[in-house]
Amino acid sequence: MNIINFINRFPDEASCIEYIKVQRMQQGIICKKCTGIKHYWLENKLSFQCASCGFRTSIKSGTVMQSSNLSIRTWMTTITFITATKKGFSASELQRQLGMKRYEPVFRMYHKLRKVMGQRDERYSLEDLVEYDEAFMGKSTKAKIRSQSKRGRGI
Ligand SMILES: [Zn+2]
Repeated sequence: MNIINFINRFPDEASCIEYIKVQRMQQGIICKKCTGIKHYWLENKLSFQCASCGFRTSIKSGTVMQSSNLSIRTWMTTITFITATKKGFSASELQRQLGMKRYEPVFRMYHKLRKVMGQRDERYSLEDLVEYDEAFMGKSTKAKIRSQSKRGRGI
């Protein structure tokens, strides 16, 4: 996806939240507390609430965006920059392009994304990353249930 397509498709934070929310719901969310898989979306908390126990999973939790205060659109813009740019660029250049005041959060985000994306080939797109990458979005429900049942058999 080039920059223009990105801007058209994701003009604001709300459109980015909606996109990530839908992707995560399609993948399935597992409650950390009770391993329930049915969740309701809480728009004002930007979280999924477990239907069984009420535990909340934030939209960023379990993804590469976890514990970051940067907006989801900032993350998605940076992914688009990385995939749309052939040559590498510095974190300070990224900070300038994003118009961010503080360097440190931009540096940390860039470092995490480079680590996650570095293992993939150059044709990596935003769709690939968001839809398929476990490091970005967290493991899918199916994958988690599989690994849990494997552990279960060992006991
Ligand atoms: Zn629960």
